[in-house]
Amino acid sequence: MEKPLIQPYICAVCNYLYDDESAEKDHNNAPIPFTQLPEEWRCPICGVSQDQFTITTSDRTPDVPELPNK
Ligand SMILES: [Zn+2]
Repeated sequence: MEKPLIQPYICAVCNYLYDDESAEKDHNNAPIPFTQLPEEWRCPICGVSQDQFTITTSDRTPDVPELPNK
């Protein structure tokens, strides 16, 4: 598993994940870090602003506490 190029962020409304794959690309086709997106950038799925996104450390899963296994 490759190390992510950028820190993934997840949309609190629709769980859209902004990561290496889904990120906007710069002119070198490199993913743009979430924190460097233009202010007017909105979630492409539900259209909310960036303040609805939270940083996540997990891969393609929401950053929520997991219930212990029984
Ligand atoms: Zn969204």
